[in-house]
Amino acid sequence: MSAYPARAVIDLDAIRGNAAELAARAAPAAVMAVVKADGYGHGLVPSARAALAGGATWLGVAQLEEALALRSAGIDAPILTWLYAPGAPLDQVVAAGIDVSVAAGWALLEVLDAARAVGRTARIHIKVDTGLGRSGVMPRELGPLLDAALGAQAEGLCSVVGVWSHLAWADAPDHPTVLGQIGVFDEAVALAERKGARLEVRHLANSAATLTNPSMRYDLVRPGLAVFGLSPVPQIGGPAAFGLTPAMRLEADLAVVKSVEAGQGVSYAHVYTTPAATVLGVVPIGYADGVPRHASGTADRWGGPVQVGGRRLGVAGRVCMDQFVLDLGHEADEVAGDRVVLFGSGADGEPTAEDWAQAAGTISYEIVTRIGSRVPRVYVGSAGDRPVTAR
Ligand SMILES: *Cc1c(COP(=O)(O)O)cnc(C)c1O
Repeated sequence: MSAYPARAVIDLDAIRGNAAELAARAAPAAVMAVVKADGYGHGLVPSARAALAGGATWLGVAQLEEALALRSAGIDAPILTWLYAPGAPLDQVVAAGIDVSVAAGWALLEVLDAARAVGRTARIHIKVDTGLGRSGVMPRELGPLLDAALGAQAEGLCSVVGVWSHLAWADAPDHPTVLGQIGVFDEAVALAERKGARLEVRHLANSAATLTNPSMRYDLVRPGLAVFGLSPVPQIGGPAAFGLTPAMRLEADLAVVKSVEAGQGVSYAHVYTTPAATVLGVVPIGYADGVPRHASGTADRWGGPVQVGGRRLGVAGRVCMDQFVLDLGHEADEVAGDRVVLFGSGADGEPTAEDWAQAAGTISYEIVTRIGSRVPRVYVGSAGDRPVTAR
C-alpha cells in the first residue's frame, strides 16, 4: 500500500454487484454504465471493467478523451461520448469505433468530416433537448438535422443508431416536467422513425429514472451514480433500498495527536475553540483532496462526520487545503497512525458520502467526483488488492 496518509478504497465487487442489480431492474433494457469524470472519482478503467463484468453492456462518458482512454485500455464494448466543442478529435473517436452524440448542426458536419477522413461510418446518437434546457437539438430543429443525418447515412458516412435525451427533474419522479419530457421524446423518436431511421437504441433514463420510473427505460438506461452505489434520490431511499452498495471508502491516518488546554482556537480563524482540555487529532486530507471546506466545523456545530476508534466525530474548525482537525475528547486513546474513516458504505457504522453531502450542502455526486487526483485509489475485490496511483 502507498505511503500516502489517505486513500480511497474502491470495492470493485460493489461496482460489479451494482451493475448486476441495475441490469436486473432495467431488463429487457440494456445498461450503459456512465463512467465519466474518472468513474465518478472511482477510476475510469477499473470502474468500467467492473461494471461490464456485472452486466452493463455499454459505457458512457462525457468527454472524448475519456472514451479514447477506455479504448486504449483495450475495452471493446460499445461506448457513447457526448460532449465536445468545434475542433475536437472526432477522427480518432470515429476511427476507434466510438459512438458519438450529435446535438447540433455543426457537430453533424464535423462528425461527417471525420468519417470521410478516416474512411469509416460514424455511429451517431441524435441528442434532443426535450426540456432540460442544456445540450441537445431543440425539437423544432430536429427535422432538418435528421434529414441531413439520414442523407449522409444514405451515402454511408454515418449511421443514425440512437435518439436520446436527458431529464431535468429525474430525482423528482412525479414532477410534471418528467411526463412532459417523455412526451416530447416519444415524438422525437417517432419523427426519426417516420423519416426512415432504424434506431438500435432509444435512451432517456439516468440513475434516478432507472430506479424510480420503469416506463422510461426504453432500450437502454444510462445510470452513473447508482453504478457506484450511491442513491440519486436520497429523499426517497438510500442505497440499500435499491439493492446498491457504495463502492468508495475514504480514509486517512492521524498525523498528529496532542493534548491542549480549554480555550485553544483550532485551525484557521479559530472558528472552533476547545470548550475544555482535550486531545486534538490532525487528519492529513483537506480540500485539495476533495474534503469540502463547506463542511468545516464551528463552535456550535461540528462539520463533516468521521468515524475514529468506533466513535462518530465531526470536523472541528476549518477544513484546510491538506488537513483538518478533530476534537478527540480528553479521554482519547488514539495515537498517530490510527485510521479515520470519512465515509464508506455505512455497513460498519461509518458515515456515508451522502452524510458528507448534507454536511456540505451539496449532493453525493460532488463528494465522490471531487476526490483529488493525489489521493491514491486502492482497488479491492475482483481485481485484487493493488494500489493504483497512475490513472
Ligand atoms: C451524467 C449523465 C448520466 C448519468 O447520470 P446519473 O444521475 O449519475 O445516473 C446520464 N446521462 C447523461 C447525459 C449524463 O450527463
